[in-house]
Amino acid sequence: MHDHLLLSPEDARSLQSCVHCGLCLPSCPTYLISGKEADSPRGRLLLMKSLDRQAWADPSAHFGHLDSCLGCRACETACPSGVPYGDLLEQVRARQREQYQPLPFRQRVTLAWTTSRRRLIWLTALLRQLQKLRLDRLVIALRLLPAALRVQLAGLPPLPARSFSQAALEDFAPAHPAGKMRGRVALFTGCVMDSWYAEVHAATVRVLRWNGYGVTVPVEQVCCGALHSHAGEEQTGALLLEANRVAFGAVDAQAVVVNSAGCGAQLQKLGNGEPALEIVDVTVWLDRQGLVPPVSPLPGRTAYDAPCHLRHAQRIKAEPERLLALACAELVPLDEAELCCGSAGLYSLGQPEYSRQLLARKLQRISTAAPDRLVTANPGCQLQLQGGLRNTGSDLPVAHIMTVLDSAYSRDPAYRTAVMA
Ligand code: SF4
Ligand code: SF4
Repeated sequence: MHDHLLLSPEDARSLQSCVHCGLCLPSCPTYLISGKEADSPRGRLLLMKSLDRQAWADPSAHFGHLDSCLGCRACETACPSGVPYGDLLEQVRARQREQYQPLPFRQRVTLAWTTSRRRLIWLTALLRQLQKLRLDRLVIALRLLPAALRVQLAGLPPLPARSFSQAALEDFAPAHPAGKMRGRVALFTGCVMDSWYAEVHAATVRVLRWNGYGVTVPVEQVCCGALHSHAGEEQTGALLLEANRVAFGAVDAQAVVVNSAGCGAQLQKLGNGEPALEIVDVTVWLDRQGLVPPVSPLPGRTAYDAPCHLRHAQRIKAEPERLLALACAELVPLDEAELCCGSAGLYSLGQPEYSRQLLARKLQRISTAAPDRLVTANPGCQLQLQGGLRNTGSDLPVAHIMTVLDSAYSRDPAYRTAVMA
């Protein structure tokens, strides 16, 4: 037995690598808006240390500053000592949920929707009816839901009648413009992406095919479990991961390609274990192989808001920007593009005030950049940003990067004939 309450000896050693320099503070969204040391990475690491060392007889009262952490991992990118903040947070949250404070009811219900395809289909059908009857607008106007949910409702895309998996064949053939076949990848479809952003998956498949890749969509795959792991539901997160290892391990593909930043960061854990899988964000895959350049880039001003789980958790920065530079006529800089928008999985439900302030800050930066389209690469960010914009009267579209590439390609009749027919 060791004398740690929350962490393994190895994680406790990692915690010691923080030298309290404070270089991470300007990158931390909650520190930026609150100015409180306790809501900074350094303050939270000290809190973890105290909790782990049993400094308090009843630690329950001290978890608030950890609950207010977005898990955005911007502090990790900034930290010169390599403190693995995200891993430490997941470990502490898992012990918090097991030993002291179960996950609040509303967040447990939300998680339950993601793990069952059937429940997600029902929820999507209900939301679709609301959209068809325009009742969603009434619900928002009459403030019948908490503010965070009104943002999410406003941010929904027009919901499809069927999820991507329900509509998809299992295999798609490559269709390179020069007839060059490059190989085959497997596509991770996820939960919300599959049900609400089926069109993003369809666009991803078309873009991959045009770049010479066949795409396999294994039917046995499940939700990645990222939301569960971030919320401290460690066991469910691990079970979902292993189910995906089995589903993708059986597929003959060069890599598992992911188009959702949050799912990709979680699935990276499948790089260890047996069979070890290569998990790659779709932007990295296309950039690495050399993107077939669109013949006619999209006109107008495009701004890119980097999802935290792409930029910080997976350290992917240049690849999406290089792809967008090929697909868009003019890329405009967005101030604080690497700062969280306040979505962060279930965060807006548990910490609505910080989430609201971060969204307001982001909307202000977007307004200054004045783009014609805003691009992201994660469903949570897309919902939050689109909902925030709509609720403030803006009609600026928020698009996934694969939709942008698909739109640029589709200006070429050869593309439409080859992959859109
Ligand atoms: S987490 Fe890293 S950057 Fe932040 S105070 Fe500790 S050592 Fe410094
Ligand atoms: S994960 Fe994000 S919110 Fe949490 S301490 Fe690090 S930078 Fe701050």
